[in-house]
Amino acid sequence: MILPVLKYGHPVLRQKGARIEAITPEITRLIEDMLETMYAAAGVGLAAQQVGIPLQLTVIDVKDVRDRPSTLEIGSHPATIHDHMPLVLINPELKPLGKPVVGPEGCLSFPELYADVERPESVDVTAMNGRGETIRFRCGGLLARAVQHETDHLHGILFIDRMSSETKKELKPELDVLQETTKAALKKGAKDQ
Ligand code: ZN
Repeated sequence: MILPVLKYGHPVLRQKGARIEAITPEITRLIEDMLETMYAAAGVGLAAQQVGIPLQLTVIDVKDVRDRPSTLEIGSHPATIHDHMPLVLINPELKPLGKPVVGPEGCLSFPELYADVERPESVDVTAMNGRGETIRFRCGGLLARAVQHETDHLHGILFIDRMSSETKKELKPELDVLQETTKAALKKGAKDQ
């Protein structure tokens, strides 16, 4: 089932996600719905907060992005991206590596808004997958950027929080409109109920 994606201004996007201790049928269903929603929106990642559920769960798939390379290493051996997508990350813990690099980013909760964000170029990741198994890997490039962006969502942090103050200043008019539109829709929804 395709779920509605919440836009900037919705309070759930600022909530820290609760840890998931067990893969219940509800969690499995949520993972399936989040993957379907991400593919339908042509996104490379989606966090549970973005579909209104504050949990430490995100799905990622970068295999169809050809112009921005990703790297993946498992147990110090290079791995093929295609073989490991989509990624389901539950309670992910990140260890940033390498120098910060600047790259363009977008977010399904900020339609048509793209800006440069600086993040470490690679990260070590430990997480639980959708089968409840512990997974560990090192990633770089676009995948490292996506993992960091999505893990931020799980803590209520948005990519605008990572932008330079100049970039944020430039985007302020658009951000204000988006936030007000979301809040007005929420208010109307509450009144209609
Ligand atoms: Zn996002």
